[in-house]
Amino acid sequence: MLIEGPSGLFCPAGGFHVDPWGPAERALITHVHGDHARPGSQAYLCAEPSRRLLERRLGPEARIEALPYSEALTLGSARVSFHPAGHILGSAQIRIEDADGVWVVAGDYKRAADPTCAPFEVLRCDTFVTESTFGLPIYRWDRTEAIVAEIVEWWEDNERAQRTSALFCYTVGKAQRILAELARVTDRTIFVHGAMSSMIEAYREAGVRMLPTASVTEQAKGRKFSGELVLAPLSARGTPWMRRLGVHSDGFASGLMRVRGVRRQRAFDRGFVLSDHADWPALLETIAETGAGRVLATHGHAEPLARHLREIGLDAGTMRTAWEGEPEGD
Ligand SMILES: [Zn+2]
Ligand SMILES: [Zn+2]
Repeated sequence: MLIEGPSGLFCPAGGFHVDPWGPAERALITHVHGDHARPGSQAYLCAEPSRRLLERRLGPEARIEALPYSEALTLGSARVSFHPAGHILGSAQIRIEDADGVWVVAGDYKRAADPTCAPFEVLRCDTFVTESTFGLPIYRWDRTEAIVAEIVEWWEDNERAQRTSALFCYTVGKAQRILAELARVTDRTIFVHGAMSSMIEAYREAGVRMLPTASVTEQAKGRKFSGELVLAPLSARGTPWMRRLGVHSDGFASGLMRVRGVRRQRAFDRGFVLSDHADWPALLETIAETGAGRVLATHGHAEPLARHLREIGLDAGTMRTAWEGEPEGD
C-alpha cells in the first residue's frame, strides 16, 4: 500500500505522501517536528490540533487542511484517518485502509502520560510503521514524576547557590511539557529564550495549561536571573544571549541523556532523561498490541529493532529516511 518514492513514503492508491522530505502534491503530516513536516508540498493534511502549529511552521502560503482525530476521509481508493500518538500536541498516527488491508504509520510516539497532548491510541493493523529513535534495549525511561522532581531539586540547589538554572530542551513539545509538568508543583514564572515564545503561545491558544512565561530579552537591562529557571533551545548554547543569565548551571532534557558517553561529550552540568519517544519496552509492547504481522522501522536504530522483531518471529524490515542531521524532539 505504501512505497518508498523519491520524496519519501507514498501511497499510490490514495495519491498522497506521508511526512515527505521532498516536494509532494499532497502531504499527510504526522506532526510538526522538522524531520516530519517539510516545506514545499502543494497541499497538507494534518490532525486538527496540529493545524495552528503547522501554520506557524510552514508560513501563510502553505495550503493546510485538518481532520479531527478518528474522522475518516476517502482519498482515491484509500480511507485515511488520524489518531493520537502521544508525542507532542497534535501528533498523529495515520491509519490507511484499502481493499488490501490496514497500514498504520505511527510517526513519533510515546506511551508515557503527557499533559500537553492526547494519549496514544492503540490501532490494530496488518502493517505497522514504527519509529525506532530509541530502538535499543539500553533505552528505558523512569517515571516522569521522578524526572520532574530531579529538575526541581536541581533548580532549588542552584537557587540556594545564587545561580541561574539554564535548562536546554526542544522548542516544540519538550518545552511545553516541562512547563505543564512544573505547573503541578509550583506557580512561579519561567523565563524563556525568545525563539520559544511563538510555539508556547500556540500551545496556550490550544488550551494547554502551563506555567506563566516571560522572555529573557524583554526584561529590563540589569535584571538578574539568579535563582530563576530559564528554558532555551540548544541553538542558544554558547551564544552571547547566555551572558544575560549570569552565573548559571546548565542542563539538557532529552532521552539522549540516558547514555553516559553522550552526557560527557555534550558536557552539560546535568542531564534529565525526559523523552517524548517510546523507550525499548514501550516499542515492543506497542508493536505487539497492534497485532501487526509486518513491521517497518524508521528513524534512529531501525536495523537493531527490526532484527530483534525478526528474532521473535515477525516479518520486519526498515524504511529509509532522507532526513540528515539531528532529529527534533528527542
Ligand atoms: Zn517528533
Ligand atoms: Zn521524528
